[in-house]
Amino acid sequence: MSARVLITGGAGFLGSHLCDRYHNEGWDVICMDNLTTGSEKNISHLAGKERFKFIKFDVTNYIDIDGPLDLILHFASPASPIDYLEMPIQTLKVGSLGTHKALGLAKAKKARFLLASTSEVYGDPLEHPQKESYWGNVNPTGFRGVYDEAKRFAEAMTMAYNRFHGVETRIVRIFNTYGSRMRLRDGRALPTFFRQAFSNEPITVFGDGSQTRSFTYVDDLVEGIYRLAKSSEVEPVNIGNPEEITILEFAEEIIKITGSKSEIIFKELPADDPQVRQPDISKARRVLNWEPKTDRQSGLMKTMEYFKNMVQSDA
Ligand code: UDP
Repeated sequence: MSARVLITGGAGFLGSHLCDRYHNEGWDVICMDNLTTGSEKNISHLAGKERFKFIKFDVTNYIDIDGPLDLILHFASPASPIDYLEMPIQTLKVGSLGTHKALGLAKAKKARFLLASTSEVYGDPLEHPQKESYWGNVNPTGFRGVYDEAKRFAEAMTMAYNRFHGVETRIVRIFNTYGSRMRLRDGRALPTFFRQAFSNEPITVFGDGSQTRSFTYVDDLVEGIYRLAKSSEVEPVNIGNPEEITILEFAEEIIKITGSKSEIIFKELPADDPQVRQPDISKARRVLNWEPKTDRQSGLMKTMEYFKNMVQSDA
């Protein structure tokens, strides 16, 4: 019998790419999602296939799965600043209660558990680039706090299940990632800039655009997660592309590659927006022998067509 994986948040952007990867590797894949931010469209190509099953379910409730499980990838959570602003309580609940339920299931099934954590645990970082050993600079009561603190709690809960119950756990800290199946209107910089560029609308840069991010192409991220799940590393591992760029330069880059006539306009910087973000990936290089293969230029070229089609069908 093939190995069996449960992917929570499996109909989301990252979750659905993981469903594809594990299915292609011959695994039996159970995709669970309550479709709050995920979409059945992301997994429609897998529907009806052997070794694939979709269950519409909210993981903050007791999870009941028939049969054995070898691995749980816990990816359920709203994950863009607009989402946590609109759904602050659900965000806190899925990170805390949802992680607890998923860990309880891992314990009952003797399955390995991998938590999708995030660079947001570093908050607005005072250390740059960010190593896994950095404890972060998070405002617990700010609007991003609902996501950041839920993920920090989820990491603590994961380590407690490892130490106290002996569950085999892994923690990935994901940095900004892009690729097909991202929602056009999730408010994030990359889909927003593509949408504005293809519609020749002004590109909205928040603040003066001097804040930085480091963008990872989705296939690289999936490879890093796949390797981490197989590895024996219990402590958190950063997976991200260290190529760093200011948001203003990024807006200019999108205008250039799309050949857009858009101008750049400046809007107010949201509260607690991290000023810098760049992963230190020496640990991933060392313990997973992983590093990104796709530079930003080629990743954006690969993703551009997807956004162009999305903008056309949106219009
Ligand atoms: N941003 C922007 N214009 C937009 C959306 C986002 O300038 O229309 C900025 C945002 O303030 C942040 C950066 O782009 O500094 C990345 O934002 P995103 O929401 O993509 O990710 P995160 O802040 O979670 O890294």
